[in-house]
Amino acid sequence: MATHRIVIVGGGFGGVKCAQVLAKSLRRNGVEIVLFNKENHLVFSPLLADAVGSSLSLLDVIVPLRQLLPGVICRTEEVRSVDLAASSIEYEGFDGQPRRLEYNHVVLACGNISNLNVVPGMSDHAFPLKTVGDAAVLRTHILSMMEKAEVCDDPAKRRWFLSFIVVGGGYSGVETAGEINDLVRSSARFYSNIRNEDITVTLIHSRDQLLPEISPQLREFAREKMEKAGVTMKLNARVQLATGEGVGLKDDFVHGGTIVCTIGSTTAPVVKRLDSPQEKGRLLTNADMRLRGRDNAWAIGDCANIINAVDHQPSPPTGQFAEREGRQCAENILRVLRGEPTRPFAFKVLGQLCSIGGHSAVAEMFGFRLSGFWAWFTWRGVYLFKLPTWSRRVQVGFDWAWLLVFPRDLSCIKTDTTDRVTHAHYEPGDYIIRQGEPPTSFFVIEQGEVEIVRATPEHPEGEVLAVLGAGNFFGEAALLSNQPRTASVRARTTAEIVVMGRHVFTSISESLAPLKQALMGAITRRAPNSALDRPRVRAALREFKLADFIEPAPSPLLAPTATLLDVTRIFGENEAPFFMVSADGKRLDGLVTLTDLLHAQASNLPPETPLKDFMVGNPAIIAASDSCVVAASAFREHGHKWMPVVDDREHRQIVGFMRARKLIARIMQVVGPPNTLTQAPMPDPPPGAPPAS
Ligand SMILES: Cc1cc2nc3c(=O)[nH]c(=O)nc-3n(C[C@H](O)[C@H](O)[C@H](O)COP(=O)(O)OP(=O)(O)OC[C@H]3O[C@@H](n4cnc5c(N)ncnc54)[C@H](O)[C@@H]3O)c2cc1C
Repeated sequence: MATHRIVIVGGGFGGVKCAQVLAKSLRRNGVEIVLFNKENHLVFSPLLADAVGSSLSLLDVIVPLRQLLPGVICRTEEVRSVDLAASSIEYEGFDGQPRRLEYNHVVLACGNISNLNVVPGMSDHAFPLKTVGDAAVLRTHILSMMEKAEVCDDPAKRRWFLSFIVVGGGYSGVETAGEINDLVRSSARFYSNIRNEDITVTLIHSRDQLLPEISPQLREFAREKMEKAGVTMKLNARVQLATGEGVGLKDDFVHGGTIVCTIGSTTAPVVKRLDSPQEKGRLLTNADMRLRGRDNAWAIGDCANIINAVDHQPSPPTGQFAEREGRQCAENILRVLRGEPTRPFAFKVLGQLCSIGGHSAVAEMFGFRLSGFWAWFTWRGVYLFKLPTWSRRVQVGFDWAWLLVFPRDLSCIKTDTTDRVTHAHYEPGDYIIRQGEPPTSFFVIEQGEVEIVRATPEHPEGEVLAVLGAGNFFGEAALLSNQPRTASVRARTTAEIVVMGRHVFTSISESLAPLKQALMGAITRRAPNSALDRPRVRAALREFKLADFIEPAPSPLLAPTATLLDVTRIFGENEAPFFMVSADGKRLDGLVTLTDLLHAQASNLPPETPLKDFMVGNPAIIAASDSCVVAASAFREHGHKWMPVVDDREHRQIVGFMRARKLIARIMQVVGPPNTLTQAPMPDPPPGAPPAS
């Protein structure tokens, strides 16, 4: 170990300032200063909204740590944990293996991380804005929405592409809404099909005023100015859920193709794992910023709860405070090294600045209040001089001056989104796939149900062809054949879906034998070449009434508490090949077939084993309101000879059951025996299947 080593975890405003001050005093004294940051740059987060709105280039909002911190050893490994008792950290080496490094002092400056899980569906459908990567993805998305709107001939859909929703009325939400509004409205003139009245930018905030940190007059000014520029304010409105179509409020639904979430943050994992007292996920410190009960461990910035000696309040999680804490923490470490007493953290806020778009800002500085263009000019000037290097200042100043004269850059770099496996949440009626779209993903239903809907000249509004439930998948055929989707898929109930990108799907389906087999089975089942895919057969199915095929449920209904012995006796005394299971005598809780019974007996289960342990829970069902087209598709999809019928998918009250054989017999009566009678009913190919020839 070097004579003395100081380790800083996190290269944000706090960590960088701390490293700079330490390096200035110690680098010639043989003290090793090591800064760990996952990225090799500092993100200047107050400018992220400008990067989203194309008024700054993405590279202008980051500064490389190596060039910023001469004399500091910068490392990009992620620190996994800090052992305060042993004075060492564990980090992930280049080979993924854990490694340790001992320290004399450690400074935790790892900020916090976005947490979109604060609202159901938000993590699946909204964009966060925390890293420069987030800003790049959001900017590309906004520009691609404008490109789609330009070529879209459906006015409602075009308005949806041009509707942008920003959740959160704090600094980052207000700046982001202002920048998106400026970008989209000022660029509309370059698109022949985008009209100003088709554009909506909505800012949703849970309180009655934006920007709680500044004075009421300035808040009011910001609101009025933004509304005038075209931003719709929804105040006192709490977002309850986010879907692929927009966000749900208590009594309203705001539609939009872009949702930006600026609320919600959570503790960084390394802090979570730390054995040190915390309040609301922030590390509690002494007045001098040392962790409670520790001599050589310090915490600063957003990850720390530091009491400010000026007002005796916890310091807010802002860049301004993080930087001051970083400076003073370094000074306190220097004092400890010299054997002097440390000082409590004390900082008087210099002012607040917030850009609201349209070359306007609100500012409170040194007791003065400023709004409008001069506030915006001051805002830009202050941030320009806050940028840590002269080269960045010149670059950013040049970009800003350029945009005062020339329009924003609308080039949209497609980084072809990395293939990922994600979880998506859909509300009833949300579209997961739209007919005609190019195939990009494969979907597995985790919970809930979806319906396959195809629009045809006879049914332009779309006909429900099939219903798929938990455990089913869709989207494979279009991916494998690289054909546009032949049908839409819509959530029928609230649905949780696993979405797999094309490359992940291809590599897994090629290497994982069970998935390969399941896919082959689905492709054969769903291939559009069966007798029942013929127009006459499909027309006949449309005419049939499902009620004519429903038979009473086999008697008796079994309770889930019935024992293996009881069930064996009941099968012996009755001819039915299966029985339905219900706890209350109404709702379908499960099924038991002769095969299930034989399996249970072969497994040597004790005779008193309750039925709920060996029945089929949550079986595939047909709803009484389904069409015969859907029922035939369900028989084909599940390969069953009979299926239970319930009143609807939510309540699952038992109505009876239906046999595939009866349906086939009726079809034969109506259209005559097909030459491929051995095939199971199959009305239409599912989405993604190549079109029938
Ligand atoms: C969009 C946006 C706009 C904002 N606008 C303003 C504003 O106008 N004014 C203002 O004062 N504040 C603003 N803020 C808040 C400000 O950015 C934060 O308060 C500030 O960045 C906190 O600094 P920090 O040093 O604590 O952490 P951060 O700046 O978050 O840096 C933490 C760093 O630690 C790294 N890290 C975390 N864990 C590990 C690990 N285990 N190993 C290695 N590295 C790790 C992270 O990668 C990150 O680089 C804004 C924030 C955002 C997101």
